[in-house]
Amino acid sequence: MLVLIYSLMKKEISNWLDELKKIVGEKSFFTRQEQMLDYSHDEFPGTEIAQLPLAVVKPVNTRQVSDILKWANKSKIPVTPRGGGTGLCGGCIPAPGGIVLSLEEMNRILEIDRQNRMAVVEAGVRLRDFYEAVEKENLFFPPHPGDESAAIGGVIATNAGGARAVKYGVVRNFVKGIEVVLPDGEIVQLGGKLLKNSSGYSLLHLMTGSEGTLGIVTKAILNLLPPPQAQLTLIAPFENLENAVGVVPALGKAGILPMAVEFIEVETIKVAEDFLNKKWPCREGRAHLMIILDGSGEDEVLAAAGRIDALCREFGARQVFVADTPKKQKEVLEIRSKIYETIKKYVVEILDIVLPPAEIPAHVERVRQLSREYGMWLPTFGHAADGNVHTLPLRAHYIDGRWQEIPDSEWKAIYPRVRQALHDDAASRGGLVSGEHGIGLLKKEYLEDAVGRNVVDKMRLIKKAFDPNHILNPGKIF
Ligand SMILES: Cc1cc2nc3c(=O)[nH]c(=O)nc-3n(C[C@H](O)[C@H](O)[C@H](O)COP(=O)(O)OP(=O)(O)OC[C@H]3O[C@@H](n4cnc5c(N)ncnc54)[C@H](O)[C@@H]3O)c2cc1C
Repeated sequence: MLVLIYSLMKKEISNWLDELKKIVGEKSFFTRQEQMLDYSHDEFPGTEIAQLPLAVVKPVNTRQVSDILKWANKSKIPVTPRGGGTGLCGGCIPAPGGIVLSLEEMNRILEIDRQNRMAVVEAGVRLRDFYEAVEKENLFFPPHPGDESAAIGGVIATNAGGARAVKYGVVRNFVKGIEVVLPDGEIVQLGGKLLKNSSGYSLLHLMTGSEGTLGIVTKAILNLLPPPQAQLTLIAPFENLENAVGVVPALGKAGILPMAVEFIEVETIKVAEDFLNKKWPCREGRAHLMIILDGSGEDEVLAAAGRIDALCREFGARQVFVADTPKKQKEVLEIRSKIYETIKKYVVEILDIVLPPAEIPAHVERVRQLSREYGMWLPTFGHAADGNVHTLPLRAHYIDGRWQEIPDSEWKAIYPRVRQALHDDAASRGGLVSGEHGIGLLKKEYLEDAVGRNVVDKMRLIKKAFDPNHILNPGKIF
């Protein structure tokens, strides 16, 4: 009997997949394992959450996306949208028995409207191509999440942040309009080339950050700015993180708003230096602040740099290194942005806790306490001025230039306690579970504690209203 049910189900699925193939055409339809492996995971290092889909489809226009969702809604087959696959919490991993809808073939930059300072793009445009096109028009798109392979649809769906958020805000601040396909296949246009919009509930902002669970973004209208005319990177070494982070409110009081303020501990820089065979410009102290300044001219950024230098010295920095040429700035940024890559092999998870900025030192002190208590290295760095702290628990120690792995049975026994303690500490300081990566699959268990059960219940009602059959990226967020 079971065999009969199984073979009937298999036949039905195969019929459904034939229908799907007809929608996108043979060239955009993939079912062989080796074609789908890359679509079974994102950039989260653990393989335990990977999941092969039934099929991967790559529609080329909005009409096809709509037809796919109508098909999925009818056949009740889960659909997971995917952009660049650079997410860090399993958001684009397909649901069991579902398909992946990759936007990668919808990658046209449709318009850069200089008069309104708006770009109109398809959702599959990669950030690196977008920055290039925008720069060519002498304009500027400030949000800069660390991996430029991310796609516009993905950065909208996660409401990505990045280092420049402190001055310019997150992706949500720049999304002015979207075309979105709802789970039943309906195509809706939200917002437009508008800088102001108080026209009813903002479904645009609801879709932004909804992690592919309410609709599939197919096009976006993004606001652009005039580019800064000068840029300078400073590295300030401090004896401890408290002093380093203490500079941040002092900058605010002095009326200085840098483009980015990142904190990094020297132990972490050392691993990146060894791996990349590159030298970080400054060897002193135990915690460094990397401050990027931008402005309308050299005089303006130099004047701000002078004031920052004085403030950093007040907080105990002995000298402040200045990367004043594009080459030096690139070197520093490369080391900073490749930290994750250098330790990825041993990373258990990338935490994305966000705190009131003044709480960072106390939270990082708690991270250190837990590291000592459990004997687990917990490198921590992040966006000092916007309170977003990334702790990357490691299942190895880096000693005298070599990795020493902790046996699986040991780190697996302690990690849940470390993780819980870190989230408890964040909650006790008014923090939340995710500042920029989203909840995805991996942070679900902390959402309710962080925002409250009643709030998650309201989120569930919204999900039900948009997606009563639960076909769009099910199992994510809650
Ligand atoms: C080295 C590195 C550094 C990073 N640094 C940062 C950083 O500084 N700041 C930051 O915010 N993030 C950072 N990230 C995380 C990641 O780049 C962002 O979360 C990014 O926004 C994901 O975009 P993506 O296109 O790769 O999305 P995916 O990983 O493909 O998908 C992410 C989520 O969006 C949904 N989705 C994708 N496309 C669509 C669409 N068209 N419509 C609806 N839903 C969609 C997916 O279903 C999934 O839930 C970093 C990642 C790496 C690997």
